[in-house]
Amino acid sequence: MSIESERSERVDGLPHSDERQAIIEMARDFATREIAPRVADYDRAEELPLDLLDKMAGLGLFGGVVPVELGGMGLDFVTFIGLIEEISKTCQILGTLVSMPSGLVGAGIERFGTTEQQDRWLRPLAQGEIFGAAAVTEPGSGSDVAAMTTTYRRDGDDFILNGAKAWTSNLDIASFFLTFASFDRSMRHRGITAFVIPRDAPGLSLNPYKNKLGFRPLCTGEVVLDDVRLGPEALLGVEGGGFSVAMTAVERGRLGVAARAVGVTQACLDDSVAYARDRTAFGQSIAEFQIVQSKITDMAVGAKTSRLLGQACAEALGRGERARLLTSMAKMYASDVAARSAADAVQIHGAAGVSPDYRVGRMYRDAKVLQIVEGSNDLHRSLIGEMELGLRPDGER
Ligand SMILES: Cc1cc2nc3c(=O)[nH]c(=O)nc-3n(C[C@H](O)[C@H](O)[C@H](O)COP(=O)(O)OP(=O)(O)OC[C@H]3O[C@@H](n4cnc5c(N)ncnc54)[C@H](O)[C@@H]3O)c2cc1C
Repeated sequence: MSIESERSERVDGLPHSDERQAIIEMARDFATREIAPRVADYDRAEELPLDLLDKMAGLGLFGGVVPVELGGMGLDFVTFIGLIEEISKTCQILGTLVSMPSGLVGAGIERFGTTEQQDRWLRPLAQGEIFGAAAVTEPGSGSDVAAMTTTYRRDGDDFILNGAKAWTSNLDIASFFLTFASFDRSMRHRGITAFVIPRDAPGLSLNPYKNKLGFRPLCTGEVVLDDVRLGPEALLGVEGGGFSVAMTAVERGRLGVAARAVGVTQACLDDSVAYARDRTAFGQSIAEFQIVQSKITDMAVGAKTSRLLGQACAEALGRGERARLLTSMAKMYASDVAARSAADAVQIHGAAGVSPDYRVGRMYRDAKVLQIVEGSNDLHRSLIGEMELGLRPDGER
C-alpha cells in the first residue's frame, strides 16, 4: 500500500486513503467490540488475553510494515501508526504487540536476517503465529547499551553466551529472544553481536517480575544466559554488527511508542470531554470552568501535535531515510504529552479518576512507563540537544 494513493478523507487528523481508512476502522471496530469490555480485567490480572491475540492474528494485525513477501501486511508507515494508535486508545499493551514484529523484535531480522532466519522467525511473527522478545537492557545497564556485560566466546562454529538481561517483555509468550552480547567489552558498541535464541535453548532461564505499576499484562522480567550454546544459524548479521541491528529496531520501535502515546492522549481527551460535559459542581457543568477547559485544550493540542510529529517520522522512514532525530523527538514528545494528559484526565475525573470503573487511571500508570521504555525521555532530551548542536550526527548511533 502506498501513502501516495489518493487522500480522500481524514480520520483523527491523519491523511487517509480509502484503504488506510478501512484498516483503521477495522482496528477501531475490533478494539471497541472485543478489547474494551475486557481490558480492565486482564490488566488487573496481569495476563495477556491469548484468545484476542488469535483473533488479531486472523485479522492480520501483526503484519504491520513487514513486506508481504516476508509474511507481513506491507503497510506504509503512516497507516501502521494509525493502526497502533487506534488499538492503543483502548489498550496500549496490545498496541505494543502490534508494533513488535515491525519494530523492536522484527525489524532487525527483516533487515539483517538470512532467508532462513526470516522464514523461521519473521514470517510466523508477522502472521501472529508466534511472538518474540527483544532482550537488550541488563541489570546494570539500560540507557548505556554499549556498557552491557553479557559476553560470548567462540567454540569452533558455535557461540557460548553468558550474562543476564533485565526487563525483557513477552517472557510468557516469546518463542525466541533477540539478544546482544559482546566478544570484547573494551570495544564498547563495536564489540556487540546480535543473536536469535530459541526459547528452549539449554542454559536459558526466565524470571518474570510481578505487580508492575503499569504495562501490567505484559510479562516482563529477567533472561539469564548460562553457557547458552548457539550454532551459526543464531548469528544475526555479522559479528560486531549488533549495534546496527539494535539501532534499526529502536528507530521503528520508538515510532511505535510515539503512536501508542498518541492513542493514550486521545483516549484521555475523549474521556475527559465526556466526563466534563456530564459532571456538575456548584450548580454548573464542570466543562464551564476555565481551568478544566485549559486542560482539555492542552490535551487536544498535544494529541494533534504528537500525531503530526509521528506522521513526519513515518513519512521519513517510508522514504527509506534514517530518522534518528525525528524518532527521538516523537517518542519523547508524545510520551511526555501522554503523561501530562493522563495526569490531567485523572484530575478532571476527581475521585472517579482513581476508580477502576474509569480507564484514565490505567492510562496514567501506562503513560508514566511510556516515558521510560525505548530510551528514557531524559536520554532522548540529551540526544536531541546533542544532535541539534552537531555533537552527535543524526544516524551515528
Ligand atoms: C514495562 C517495561 C518493559 C520493558 N521492556 C523491555 C524490553 O522488552 N526489552 C528491553 O531490552 N528493555 C525493556 N525495558 C527496559 C527499558 O528499555 C529501560 O528501562 C530503559 O532503557 C531505561 O534504562 P534503565 O531503566 O536501566 O535506566 P538507566 O539507564 O539506569 O537510567 C536511569 C535514569 O538516568 C537518567 N539518564 C540515563 N542516561 C541519561 C543520559 N544520557 N542523559 C540524561 N539522563 C540520563 C534518566 O533519567 C533515566 O531514566 C522495559 C522497561 C519497562 C519498565
